[in-house]
Amino acid sequence: MFDKNIDRDVEFVRLQSNVSFSGSSDEEGGCRKKGGKYTVFNEKTDMANPRFMVGMEFKTHKVLRDAIKEHSIKMGKKIKFKKCDRQKVKAVCQTGCPCEIYGSYVPSDALFRVKKYKSVHECSRSFHVPWVRALNPGTTIKMKVKLNESGQFAKFKRLSICWVELKKGFLQDCRPIIGLDGCHLKGPQGGILLTVVAIDANNCIYPFTYVVVEKEKFKTWNWFLELLIKDLNI
Ligand SMILES: [Zn+2]
Repeated sequence: MFDKNIDRDVEFVRLQSNVSFSGSSDEEGGCRKKGGKYTVFNEKTDMANPRFMVGMEFKTHKVLRDAIKEHSIKMGKKIKFKKCDRQKVKAVCQTGCPCEIYGSYVPSDALFRVKKYKSVHECSRSFHVPWVRALNPGTTIKMKVKLNESGQFAKFKRLSICWVELKKGFLQDCRPIIGLDGCHLKGPQGGILLTVVAIDANNCIYPFTYVVVEKEKFKTWNWFLELLIKDLNI
């Protein structure tokens, strides 16, 4: 199933350990913790890797909506909202996949609670690389991920993008010299941004290709520069 949707330019390496993306329950009903309290979603600490279960509580429908969006991106799934208002939130995966989540407002507790959650996906992970490439023919995009043992889930490692128009601009209008630099990404996922810049006819900096990598080291710079050499045909 995974193979049908795989991008041929995506490199896959098997993970040594399993990656768990969700804890869940497929049953209707409550999920009470010891002491009679429901599990409360903490938007400050749980949003980086949202997990759901029946009975989980959310402050508002917006917090639940944002958690589902984050989860969808992290899982690489096309989860859509069937309903999303102050009373109900219902999100489903693509046609044919049983995964769905439903939560509703509980007036007595003045919060949102997950009432139904089917966690198991029968769809494939979606990658956006083919879509980006289709809209920008000539653009080079390489992504490196690691698959878990089952081969169903992938962990992001590296992404390289060289936009076709920027590449043309460098080859046609810039001085034949490049500069390399890297900086830390401050988002929740971290990582390093490595960039290649040129100098244009006005002596201005002209960034034309970049990668996001897990760490700045010889291996990642080498990966990036080998792609660049191939891309520029130099
Ligand atoms: Zn699915």
